[in-house]
Amino acid sequence: MAKPLLEFTDRGIYCEQGRFYIDPWKPVDDAVITHAHADHAYIGHKNYLAHHLSREVMLYRLGDINLRTIEYGETVTKHGVKISMFPAGHVIGSAQIRVEYKGVVWVVSGDYKTDDDGISTPFEPVKCQHFISECTFGMPVYSWKPQSEIFTEVNNWWRTNVQNGVATVIVGYSLGKAQRILQNLDLSIGKVYTHGVIENTNEALRRNGVILNPTERITFESVKDEVRKGIIIAPPSSVGTPWMRKFGPYSFGYCSGWMAIRGAKRRRAADRGFIMSDHADWNGLVSAIDATGCESVYLTHGYTASFTRYLNEIGFNASEVHTLYGGEEEEAPVTEGEEKKETTPSGDEVKEEIVS
Ligand SMILES: [Zn+2]
Ligand SMILES: [Zn+2]
Repeated sequence: MAKPLLEFTDRGIYCEQGRFYIDPWKPVDDAVITHAHADHAYIGHKNYLAHHLSREVMLYRLGDINLRTIEYGETVTKHGVKISMFPAGHVIGSAQIRVEYKGVVWVVSGDYKTDDDGISTPFEPVKCQHFISECTFGMPVYSWKPQSEIFTEVNNWWRTNVQNGVATVIVGYSLGKAQRILQNLDLSIGKVYTHGVIENTNEALRRNGVILNPTERITFESVKDEVRKGIIIAPPSSVGTPWMRKFGPYSFGYCSGWMAIRGAKRRRAADRGFIMSDHADWNGLVSAIDATGCESVYLTHGYTASFTRYLNEIGFNASEVHTLYGGEEEEAPVTEGEEKKETTPSGDEVKEEIVS
């Protein structure tokens, strides 16, 4: 029997025919990257291929890499294998990777979200025979509300804080959630301030041509009474730090899919928990997998065991595979004290907590 077009190795997802890897976690010659999050875009590869909108963030995070970028729908051929990218709806620039050789089509989802967040190019199902999918929130308890409802809650909370003279701090991961929050705030309430880690990512995206709402970076000169009338977008690593405390009294809201579980807000010591995720919920996962029309589906990270069992029960040919994905903020259930450090070549410390 011929080898499958894509296989799972200890370096990442490998295409022997095309001699490239997808989201490898160990150094390789040719890496195709689904998106710029740290658990998918590692440092140390010779050549990178990614979506055009991941360009500046990858250069900011990974330094002077040899990076080629393409648009959604554009095709690159390596040793006869056609590679193309389709929107994954996860964060700006996130792509599903479609790989085709002699009529056989595989799609690697990377991380994805089926709801339109108003800033990432919306998810597009891609027909294939073999689909490699994440399942971060592959449990029926995870069911997201429409985005408009979530942001009505966020904006009402902000408005009330301004009326009460309390500062508003909203916490989300620096690539993805921060921009989603920024684009959906009601700017008639006040100004948007950002933590440096978030503003650096915003600047990278703006260099890439992404139009974001206006923001002001918090500096030592920022006037507390002015900041209090606005909203501060901050990364998970800033929670409880002196940086955050200097805006007190403040109300702090946490945005994460994990907020759907009882106790998650309390463990984060948040005043408000907003159930907001960059990943598909249960229904999103099942409908996305169904829409591919695939013969077989491979689950890379999340609730892989129970989700695989469920898919097999309803008639899919599903199996679990081992990968190192799932290191970013949203991908592990809530446990305390876990964090990882990430240092950019520019010397900034991008410290994001694994969980939220
Ligand atoms: Zn991701
Ligand atoms: Zn991930």
